[in-house]
Amino acid sequence: MRVCEELAHYDAAFTFSLIAHHNIAMRIALSGTDSLATELMPSLMHGERLACTAMTEPQSGSDFSTMRTQAVPVDKGWKLSGAKAWIANASFADVFLVYAQTSPDAGARGVAGFIVCADDPGFKRAPAYQTPTVSRMGVGGFTLNNCFVPEHRLLYAAPGGFKAALQGVNQARVHVAAMCLGMIHSALQSALSYGETRQAFGVPLLEHQGLRWQLADVATQFTQLQTLTYEASRAIDAFVQQTKAEDATSYQQANRAAQQLAAMAKKSANTVTESAISQCLQTMGAAGLEAQYRLTDHLHCARAFAFTDGTPEMMNERIVHLLRLGVL
Ligand SMILES: Cc1cc2nc3c(=O)[nH]c(=O)nc-3n(C[C@H](O)[C@H](O)[C@H](O)COP(=O)(O)OP(=O)(O)OC[C@H]3O[C@@H](n4cnc5c(N)ncnc54)[C@H](O)[C@@H]3O)c2cc1C
Repeated sequence: MRVCEELAHYDAAFTFSLIAHHNIAMRIALSGTDSLATELMPSLMHGERLACTAMTEPQSGSDFSTMRTQAVPVDKGWKLSGAKAWIANASFADVFLVYAQTSPDAGARGVAGFIVCADDPGFKRAPAYQTPTVSRMGVGGFTLNNCFVPEHRLLYAAPGGFKAALQGVNQARVHVAAMCLGMIHSALQSALSYGETRQAFGVPLLEHQGLRWQLADVATQFTQLQTLTYEASRAIDAFVQQTKAEDATSYQQANRAAQQLAAMAKKSANTVTESAISQCLQTMGAAGLEAQYRLTDHLHCARAFAFTDGTPEMMNERIVHLLRLGVL
């Protein structure tokens, strides 16, 4: 989490892309067969191949259990057909964790996770989205047309695929919140150092109370978000150290506490980051738009992060669901 925070200070798009890649390497290491790990891990670890996770489709985003990509069992493997959209790293990735439906009427219980490679016959990459920052994250899509995936590349069999997809989502949410912290901190530093030297009406900008107070607000929001994000991170660590067999009740409590705090951290990050960066930029005048300060880049990333790993609306749904179970 701290690595995300520090890297995002300079480049949140790169940080997001790196995390998306790292996530697949970790999943293959933890859940892949020996032959899959031998085939892919060395090149993933050396950065010779890039990876990504594909759940979202042109017709399904937040409600991804309604995905239409189909996986049909065939001799020695599966054939996948469908389309994926808005996938980080997809415009240049080599390895794709693709979630697909194995049983159209089974909903979430039919979802399975497959490793697809860009050179598999039937795989076709779509052009990257041409929007600032998002294109630097390599966000794109692809289609699968009867794409054969050998048996050993089934990473998560149904009915466990949907649950596996959600495993690690708490960490992902905290990582996004940490990246937002890095961006706000960077914006604050730029505004503070610029405001000490730039003169207006015979005094440095920061001698004007209105500007000083804007930065005081941003610093307060930063610290509130930091406290919540670190607390969420500690709750996730506490949960990871629990084992279900030892004490089922405290395992469930730790699980719910981690989910609740991670959702709150992500929601807070999405709520404050854009306005915090905007306020910093405003105190710098037109100079705040200059590329050297990275504030416009941070703004684009903050906007994009409102859609990754669950929107603020979905965080509200999770928070209230847990609230109704007594988690506060
Ligand atoms: C930069 C970027 C990177 C991404 N990377 C990946 C990736 O690596 N892998 C991947 O699989 N996906 C990725 N996505 C896609 C992302 O997960 C989806 O954008 C997200 O799930 C939302 O889906 P949607 O955009 O289709 O919006 P929709 O689900 O169509 O929702 C539209 C709006 O309605 C709101 N909404 C929907 N349902 C409800 C409800 N019940 N109550 C209230 N409001 C609701 C949503 O919050 C949203 O504001 C990425 C997106 C972006 C922008």
